[in-house]
Amino acid sequence: MYTSDEPTRDGRASADADVEPTDDAATDPPTGAHGDPDATRAATTRDGDGKGDGGAADGDADPVVAVRDVRKTYDLGGTVEALAGVSLTLPAGSYTAVMGPSGSGKSTLLNLVGALDTPTSGTVEVAGRDVAAVEEADRAALRGTEIGFVFQTFNLMPRLDAVENVALPLVFAGWDRDRRRERARDLLDRVGLGERYDHRPTELSGGQRQRVSIARALAPDPAVILADEPTGNVDTGTGAGIMRLLADVNDRGTTVLLVSHSRRIAGHADRIVHLRDGLVESIESIESGESGDGSAGDAAADTSGATSDDPTRGTAAGESDEPAAGGGDA
Ligand code: ADP
Ligand code: MG
Repeated sequence: MYTSDEPTRDGRASADADVEPTDDAATDPPTGAHGDPDATRAATTRDGDGKGDGGAADGDADPVVAVRDVRKTYDLGGTVEALAGVSLTLPAGSYTAVMGPSGSGKSTLLNLVGALDTPTSGTVEVAGRDVAAVEEADRAALRGTEIGFVFQTFNLMPRLDAVENVALPLVFAGWDRDRRRERARDLLDRVGLGERYDHRPTELSGGQRQRVSIARALAPDPAVILADEPTGNVDTGTGAGIMRLLADVNDRGTTVLLVSHSRRIAGHADRIVHLRDGLVESIESIESGESGDGSAGDAAADTSGATSDDPTRGTAAGESDEPAAGGGDA
């Protein structure tokens, strides 16, 4: 059930017993304030509700991300057109996956949305700001406040413990130490690492490290979470837990953009943008049951034969918590 007028998907929310209600956010301003980041974002989701114009390139009135006719060429002894005219909008609260063969432009697109790079032509707007129109210092500020990155390789600071890693973005956002640590602990609780506050990355499993990195990405209450192959370095049972966590993040109102070569992983999203040769080949809506997160894999058969390298859902292991699914993240 992909519906653009219900950005928080009830199916998943009801399946996760620990999902908190977000109704107390209704009076918060839709953007800006960081006093209660989660509540603020939830309010944004409702206000930024997609209108669902029925078109493939959705016509949200106030999207979190708007990519318009973007081209990106690299000139390194010959010109490579990594993106050849891509348009894509991410409505507030949406969950989009980008799939495509190697070299199709997935990472280039993610880097542009993440304000790590600027387009050769066309525009990329994040939270209403044109990333190419601002100075690098402002792009860095945009990255620090509105964009949360989740990397395949976690990218945690090895000498910092879990709380310090999660709190790090808030240093740049100007939070004082006590508030930073309190928010970091809250986020570690939320991702299931309440017992690991003072563990360093080397003292954590791969799945736990990725949970820390998701908590870190959430710290400044970004408008959008960008995840490039987030399960690429964890075992499959652990990957299921990571995908469930991202679904929970999205259920609470954060817009998610995921890159994966895997149909099974991408199937957790509301829709899949298929890239080929730097162009959007098609945009596919995903039925809510396909992810297997909440509805007992009722649509898992649709994709059970699509790929074999990420059996993280639609199976008994995918339905249970990851310690039971091989114990890789215990
Ligand atoms: P994907 O993530 O889908 O595998 P990429 O976005 O990484 O694809 O790359 C798209 C194309 O752009 C590829 O042909 C790649 O070689 C090229 N490319 C990507 N980044 C650079 C770069 N920094 N310099 C030169 N070419 C690049
Ligand atoms: Mg890539």
